[in-house]
Amino acid sequence: MPEATAPLPTQPSSAPHPGSAPAPWTQRYATLGDDFVATLEPSPLPAPYWVGCNDALATQLGLAADWAASDVLLNTFTGNQLPDGGAQTASVYSGHQFGVWAGQLGDGRACALGELSGHEVQLKGAGPTPYSRRGDGRAVLRSSIREFLCSEAMHALGVPTTRALCVTGSDAQVWREERETAAVVTRVAQSFVRFGHFEHFSHSQQHAQLRTLTDYVIEHFYPECRSAVGEDGPYVALLQAVTGRTAEMVAHWQSVGFCHGVMNTDNMSILGLTLDYGPFQFLDGYDPAHICNHSDHQGRYAFHKQPNVAYWNLFCLGQALMPLLGEQEHAIAALETFKARYPQALAARMAAKLGFAQAHENQRPLIESGLKLLAQERVDFTIFWRRLSHWAEGMDGANSSVRDLFVDRAAADAWLAEFRALHAQDATFNGATTSQRMLRTNPKFVLRNHLGELAIRAAKTKDFSVLHQLQTVLADPFAEHTAFEDWAGFAPDWASSIEISCSS
Ligand code: AMP
Ligand code: MG
Repeated sequence: MPEATAPLPTQPSSAPHPGSAPAPWTQRYATLGDDFVATLEPSPLPAPYWVGCNDALATQLGLAADWAASDVLLNTFTGNQLPDGGAQTASVYSGHQFGVWAGQLGDGRACALGELSGHEVQLKGAGPTPYSRRGDGRAVLRSSIREFLCSEAMHALGVPTTRALCVTGSDAQVWREERETAAVVTRVAQSFVRFGHFEHFSHSQQHAQLRTLTDYVIEHFYPECRSAVGEDGPYVALLQAVTGRTAEMVAHWQSVGFCHGVMNTDNMSILGLTLDYGPFQFLDGYDPAHICNHSDHQGRYAFHKQPNVAYWNLFCLGQALMPLLGEQEHAIAALETFKARYPQALAARMAAKLGFAQAHENQRPLIESGLKLLAQERVDFTIFWRRLSHWAEGMDGANSSVRDLFVDRAAADAWLAEFRALHAQDATFNGATTSQRMLRTNPKFVLRNHLGELAIRAAKTKDFSVLHQLQTVLADPFAEHTAFEDWAGFAPDWASSIEISCSS
């Protein structure tokens, strides 16, 4: 790595200094006070090194083009030193884990540094906090790489998500099932407030703090709720807005085959962002009941249960907000909007995947029969949609690479005929335009478990080239990237032996 460059500027400056963060780092959530956050001392990791950097996000945050050449920033993003105007704070929250009230949790291995350009910057794995309970406050290289790659892959797919700025590593040892090395992933979001923050202040009867938190969230992130009429109007409006965003997020997940793995209420973002990448997985073969988390023995968070779990989690949020709401009916009415919002959002996504300009009731049988067929044969979810997108151009029955995905060719042909017939109802149908539209909706590349594993294996030998290539490909998952054809192929047999659990 290049030599250390200038220290962080202490005064705001219009032009970023080479290799340094522009001032000022600001504090927002931390200003709510001691009931909300604990201030930490840095817990340094020895001899940190860069594992991965996200220049596009760095630019958005206002960092200089050569930010990754700065040893000051390397140490800042490893948690070894504080930026000027920054601090390390951990926030307290509680939550329901696997359907059971878990009591106080909190940022056990995450700390906020402050904000850059209106975005909160958080380090994950930077050491113990007052909320670490029996944990070591660390994250391992493997899970940090997965979070780094996946949050950016999701962003490129258009799925609402927290972002990832960088991963730094250290040879410091961390014990999990085996000996591993420590890493820190720097995450970025407008806010990392979770449903669990509201549950915390509600269950502990700290109703003044609950109101402060809720007003803070409305003020900064849901200003449109402020003007809702009635004493509890803004709070009801917030619950409804969060319900809508959560419904949209989960519909997006279902449409790209993303399985979160640990939808505990403490992992649910109040902004409707995909948050806390742990044992997640993109589906390979389509199995609606797929459980990606090896710690989830009951399958509570199986792929097809995600919409209902989101709804359940929203009820926990509604319950937590009750001290601020006049009538229970107000909360229920806001929450019930999920029942219309989610199917609408999913229908819109599925219509786009099928190449229709908008959703229509007459697409439903086609969607249902298509998913049933995929499930029966465990057909690769991503490859199916991509091949269908190409096929849509000519809709030629012969030599179809889509039908080759199925053992039951007759059933595949029948479904494709149904698909063609529905498009044919549109007098303005154009195969080339439809195909192009579908290719911009159905990605060629998703972060399959085995792809992440390839990057991790290489990174363990300090070879970060696979990670960097994957980063480039996943940043534009709809492009062909013909040099990386293998990464668009079926998961190899060894992929099924990758075990991902909560303990990373
Ligand atoms: P998660 O399963 O990652 O959502 O974490 C659930 C809770 O455990 C959160 O409060 C985390 O901050 C905490 N936690 C997870 N891993 C660790 C760790 N290695 N050290 C301290 N706390 C942790
Ligand atoms: Mg979590």
